[in-house]
Amino acid sequence: MRIANLAGRLVLVSDDRAVDVHEASGHRFPSDPQAVYERWDEFRDWARHADPNGGRPFTPADLGAPAPSPRQLLAVGLNYREHADEAGYTAPEGMPPVFTKFTGSITGPVTEVVLPEGGRTDWEVELVVVIGRPARRVAEADAWDHVAGLTVGQDLSERVLQMSGPAPQFGLAKSYPGFSPMGPVLVTPDEFDDPDALELICTVNGEQVQRGSTRQLIFSVPALIAKLSGILPLFPGDVLYTGTPSGVGLGRTPQRWLRPGDEVVSTVCGIGELRQTMTGRTA
Ligand code: ZN
Repeated sequence: MRIANLAGRLVLVSDDRAVDVHEASGHRFPSDPQAVYERWDEFRDWARHADPNGGRPFTPADLGAPAPSPRQLLAVGLNYREHADEAGYTAPEGMPPVFTKFTGSITGPVTEVVLPEGGRTDWEVELVVVIGRPARRVAEADAWDHVAGLTVGQDLSERVLQMSGPAPQFGLAKSYPGFSPMGPVLVTPDEFDDPDALELICTVNGEQVQRGSTRQLIFSVPALIAKLSGILPLFPGDVLYTGTPSGVGLGRTPQRWLRPGDEVVSTVCGIGELRQTMTGRTA
């Protein structure tokens, strides 16, 4: 099953057409895309039997984030060995670095992003997990049962603020407006042959800068859910950025930062793509 947020309303997506869930369910489910995760099992059962006909075509520019207002937006750093190397860190053992991206930075899949003045803004394509059941002390073997679905994320990062001061500022430096685009759709785990082996690609102006597979994650999706839910509760609708593979601008020689006019396309195969155009600050 694929769902999306079309102009603020929850839709089922099939064959590039969108069915409005509130209407098609006879008002059983609310139109708010974030609210559906509170009743995920019930919704999934209904959607299995829903009539996919009568959908209407849509354009990706009208999509919002599939989980636009989560209670928690957690993100994982250094979760690919080659990326830890390029960033100058040793690979984590036991527990990866975890930080928050503040929810005001969330947007849909096709956007313009204003580059922070005086900053060095970098790209990070990531697989993003949305939680579908309350998760507390979940075993790895049960972790996928607590996932509503997967989507594409771009963890835009301003490296000057991130690295300045006595301790790194991951949360703030990755939370400028528009720095957490997600979408275009949320895909349930059963749609994949192997949800633990998804290919990720990032291009800048058509040039491939990142390519990896979630098979290379140091902490897999089930391992992350087990570890995180052992410390704090994960709520339905919570969002988890799972880390980026190598190839970010920070790790290049010479280093490379995004400039006004640059277009970043972030893809997870089997899900879809994000398209962000960078702009300078407007008056
Ligand atoms: Zn990241």
